[in-house]
Amino acid sequence: MSNIIAIVGRPNVGKSTLFNRLTESRKAIVDDFSGVTRDRHYGKAEWTDKEFTVIDTGGYVANSEDLFEAAIREQVVIAIEEASVIIFMVDVTTGITDLDDDIANLLRKSKKPVFVVVNKVDNTALETESSVFYSFGLGEIYTISSMTGSGTGDLLDEVVKHFEDIQEEENTLPKITIVGRPNVGKSSLINALIGKDRNIVTPIAGTTRDSIHIHYNQYGHEFMFIDTAGLRKKTKVKENIEFYSVMRTIKALEDSDVVMLMLDAEEGLESQDINIFHLAEKNKKGVVILVNKWDLIEKNDKTMKAFEEQIKQKLQPFTDVPILFISVLNKQRIFKAIETALEVQKNRSKKIPTSKLNDVLLPIIEAYPPPATKGKYIKIKYITQINGVAPMFAFFCNLPQYIKEPYKRFIENKLRENFDFSGVPIQIYFRQK
Ligand code: GDP
Ligand code: GDP
Repeated sequence: MSNIIAIVGRPNVGKSTLFNRLTESRKAIVDDFSGVTRDRHYGKAEWTDKEFTVIDTGGYVANSEDLFEAAIREQVVIAIEEASVIIFMVDVTTGITDLDDDIANLLRKSKKPVFVVVNKVDNTALETESSVFYSFGLGEIYTISSMTGSGTGDLLDEVVKHFEDIQEEENTLPKITIVGRPNVGKSSLINALIGKDRNIVTPIAGTTRDSIHIHYNQYGHEFMFIDTAGLRKKTKVKENIEFYSVMRTIKALEDSDVVMLMLDAEEGLESQDINIFHLAEKNKKGVVILVNKWDLIEKNDKTMKAFEEQIKQKLQPFTDVPILFISVLNKQRIFKAIETALEVQKNRSKKIPTSKLNDVLLPIIEAYPPPATKGKYIKIKYITQINGVAPMFAFFCNLPQYIKEPYKRFIENKLRENFDFSGVPIQIYFRQK
């Protein structure tokens, strides 16, 4: 189950300003580390403990005048199909334009929840002017100022009521998805693994609308493949292919346990891939990186290591991720890829007994305690793993507020050195004892 909010609307109404506001708090330190310019049109956000993905649709529209109106209309249609909730943003300072009316017409036909959000309501005088937007016939209007943030809390309170509760399923088959840019070899890998052998392919009824779930049960391995590659829908506007595939990728990713991020060896890791990687990380999914088309690379005994280092550099700070060099064409290491993904899922559901955690970590913490702050000594007393679908650890101590990011990272490294969490994001919390 995924919870995706799509922000639609014509250019300049303030979509990206709202997008930034919603995703800002989560922009996280990771963004500053990668050193790569990232096109951020989608990101993770959170309101009253509910997590969701926000997509700023505008970012995908080309600049040419004629094209963009058609492109925007098509994006609205895709958003209606794929998102859980739609925010239709308009601008109080311009009133209703023709394009606003077009978009409203499309939205009126949709069964998805639509929120009419009147932006740039920076003062109470503008509040009164907002009432014209009731004429869309789309129900309640929400007045906000994306710039100052006023009104956004009330809006989100209503929006999150439409989210589905994400269930934490246990004891079900691992769900694996292959994501990556077009032409990296995703469908080829699925075909190579499941072939034409119908006996092992069971599309599960009722799941096909969002993505195809394939039950794999062969050579002693059993799991579900969530196939997005096979579902390439035609879009009329070329620019929307990326928008559509991003929507699909996000949904498949949120539905999976482990994400196999496939790259083309000749192209390497690009900013789009890094976006997907961080999205997987923020969603606490397992990750395996597959560098495909390794057959095309001229190599010596140092090539692989150098390539791996280069990728890890861009993944910082979460670099404890398996990277495999494969060739689907030559069937090189493709089963290894599956085995690795399943191992990552095992790491992700690993539970470490409290006694073992404390036996291993407390002596390390004693030897390297958190640095004293303002003359106060921080004492970590015990550690326990919190129940959840992905690894979470609570460190109980006297002054949790004084523990800084570098120490947290040190602790994470020690956890990774002592227990295998390869491919798995770890959450660490310091709590008051
Ligand atoms: P988009 O094209 O819909 O993504 O719009 P942008 O987010 O780029 O915003 C367009 C312009 O409107 C920018 O100059 C913003 O600074 C401005 N803007 C956005 N939100 C507000 C707001 O709440 N109040 C005012 N006065 N200006 C805003
Ligand atoms: P997708 O868009 O990610 O599903 O990519 P496809 O599976 O359709 O593959 C795109 C192209 O790459 C096709 O022409 C494949 O034959 C080719 N391809 C896939 N894997 C390999 C590989 O390991 N080596 C080489 N040389 N070509 C590959």
